[in-house]
Amino acid sequence: MTIAQLPNPTGRTCGTCSLCCKLVGIEALDKPPGKWCPHCKPGSGCTIYGSHPQECRDFSCLYLETAELPEVWKPSKSRIVMYLVDDGMRLIAHVDPGSPNAWREKPYYQALKTWAKSRLDRGRQLVVRIDNRIIAILPDRDVDLGVLESGDLVFIGKVMTPNGPSYEARKMPKETATASSSP
Ligand code: SF4
Ligand code: SF4
Repeated sequence: MTIAQLPNPTGRTCGTCSLCCKLVGIEALDKPPGKWCPHCKPGSGCTIYGSHPQECRDFSCLYLETAELPEVWKPSKSRIVMYLVDDGMRLIAHVDPGSPNAWREKPYYQALKTWAKSRLDRGRQLVVRIDNRIIAILPDRDVDLGVLESGDLVFIGKVMTPNGPSYEARKMPKETATASSSP
């Protein structure tokens, strides 16, 4: 977070964006998701840069990594931090709880739907996260799975229905999960 004050392969830098330092939880600092890190000075970055935890050093959002992502996706503008988890199987569009409807706005929502369809066709997923609330984005609808508690898992995938194959999303207890992963 704000790690990319150094140029990365796309040439993009964090600049004055610090949004991941608010949205993402950092275990090493006992920092919960959705709360500003006490070491962050929004607008100028990390006040302990250089001795910040490895989790922070390892983090990079998709805006920094993906040159094809238009400037409108810069997190400080979109209020959405995009990143991959589970070896790329799940794309998280992590929304600033201070702007909880940002993902519904143009052009974000239309893009999220397009990407969700493309990812699902390849057995991958896209979810919107607002604090610990998860919304699965499916081609034909969005499924609000509510707040995920510790141990809850999420299934998102293709199922057979009487009307043919369809995508489904559901939350389920860990012990019943067979083809899922935590957020
Ligand atoms: S959200 Fe992305 S652009 Fe913004 S500070 Fe974090 S890594 Fe940098
Ligand atoms: S330690 Fe620095 S880089 Fe890590 S979350 Fe806090 S402000 Fe951001």
